[in-house]
Amino acid sequence: MKTSQFKIEGVHIIRLETGEEIIRTLQEHVQNSNIKGASISGLGSVNQVKLALYDGKQYNTFSVKGKLELSTAVGNVAWLNETPVIHLHVVVSDIEGRCWAGHLVKGNVSFTAEFVLYEFSEDLKRERDANTGLNLLTV
Ligand SMILES: [Zn+2]
Repeated sequence: MKTSQFKIEGVHIIRLETGEEIIRTLQEHVQNSNIKGASISGLGSVNQVKLALYDGKQYNTFSVKGKLELSTAVGNVAWLNETPVIHLHVVVSDIEGRCWAGHLVKGNVSFTAEFVLYEFSEDLKRERDANTGLNLLTV
């Protein structure tokens, strides 16, 4: 285990609107606000998501479309070189409460989505890890 300790620099309340893509919109906000790193949580509604699962070699993706709740979203923001990585895992559910979950690749907001971003006082970065093939947090 490796750990780092940061302070919370500020809290951003973010409301996404109809048609906005979650990852891209959050990425733009992080870039424009010079956010060094963050913890994110959120909820809302989506009409399309692309989710992924890492099998140890690659990300396998699948898509879900329809009237969906974004029942929960949790994750973090860290920088991989010059790019802010929005790492979010989500659970989406349909009208009967059936759920799909995974690593969010893409999500299209249908009505609204509400995120709270806790901005860190220090830089949080990612680095390619040869063992896992993943871009891991450098803590
Ligand atoms: Zn993930």
